[in-house]
Amino acid sequence: MNEILKSQRLNNLKYDIRGPVYERSLELESQGYKIINLNIGNPAPFGFDAPDEIVHDIILNIRNAQGYSDSRGLFAARKAVMHYTQNLGIPNISINDIFIGNGVSELIILSMQALINEGDEVLVPSPDYPLWTTSVALCGGKPVHYVCDEESDWNPDLADIESKITSRTRAIVVINPNNPTGAVYDKAILEGIARIAEKHKIIVFSDEIYDKILYNGAIHYPISKMVHETLCITMGGLSKNYRAAGFRGGWLILSGAKHKAKSYIEGLTLLASMRLCANVPTQYAIQTALGGYQSINDLIMPSGRLYKQLMLTYERMVAIPGISCVKPKGSLYVFPKIDLSQFTFADDNQFVYDLLSEQKVLVVAGQGFNYKTPDHFRIVCLPTVDELTIALDRIEVFLENHRRL
Ligand code: PLP
Repeated sequence: MNEILKSQRLNNLKYDIRGPVYERSLELESQGYKIINLNIGNPAPFGFDAPDEIVHDIILNIRNAQGYSDSRGLFAARKAVMHYTQNLGIPNISINDIFIGNGVSELIILSMQALINEGDEVLVPSPDYPLWTTSVALCGGKPVHYVCDEESDWNPDLADIESKITSRTRAIVVINPNNPTGAVYDKAILEGIARIAEKHKIIVFSDEIYDKILYNGAIHYPISKMVHETLCITMGGLSKNYRAAGFRGGWLILSGAKHKAKSYIEGLTLLASMRLCANVPTQYAIQTALGGYQSINDLIMPSGRLYKQLMLTYERMVAIPGISCVKPKGSLYVFPKIDLSQFTFADDNQFVYDLLSEQKVLVVAGQGFNYKTPDHFRIVCLPTVDELTIALDRIEVFLENHRRL
């Protein structure tokens, strides 16, 4: 029998957030165990409902949404994104510079497909949101990881970026606010990245899906305001700021030196046409989401649910001997470091697997985010304070049980 084989391009690809340990947790659930899932940044199941007006908009417009839309997206949705960028002060954006997609995920893959020739290199942060690394590899490119420095609040290391640029480098990816580290990057660092990209004529991809999820006065600077001499592509969407991940709505914004990237933009437009359009009912919600009451602000202020959950998780982690953690400034995550010399498990993968087996708490290992050393893990801080407390107690018990004497 000839076995049906997957494409060789998939051979070394992984997406650990829904990988083997996740499969193991589903198996345990099927055996009747209740798992506390701190592994996926999906707000709705934790009681973070999307704003009502978004849901109403989709319901009200469902009949209007039966046909395909323009491949770039509905006019009203793109116009709303355009106004959003204008309000942020990003220069020179027209309606055709906006593409609507089925979430940022689709746009990440599309934008890499449009760019990469076999062996082209894309600079991706380490740690990263792993879809970026995987998409580069899927398209035949080589993801080259640059260091985000834990000692410097997880800001990208400009010298490391510069040292990794070669004649094959086509683009640099920035994830700000960051998943998994919770970092929000300093303005000077973003300026530095913009100058490096301009100097080497590479595209800047900026994943800003958490741009409204900021704590303790952190300021998010869109890098698109700083990139003038090369192309900049910014992505955002409904999944996190508006807690509507299941609706699959995202956008891509072209800015900077678009005239130097005509062929690439043509390619992107072709790929957008080939998938016909993004799902239309969700597109009807984008205008309301961007122009409506920004209820995310209530969740991130000190009395808000997200703030309390993030800070509790951070404080509980740093109180455990052998665990350190940079205080998150944005997003939904904390990314603690384990001092492996103090514990009996070998690495982050074993920690995650054994924590699941013994305490029925599911987190993701740092290696799943392409981090260089096997000694971090990511906690999704979406459960309520009460449920998080149970999970954090269990993590603490696990670590005490596995502490070297
Ligand atoms: N980018 C980052 C940094 C993310 O964390 C996620 C989801 O967790 C995505 C993109 C995917 O977003 P979407 O739901 O819009 O596909």
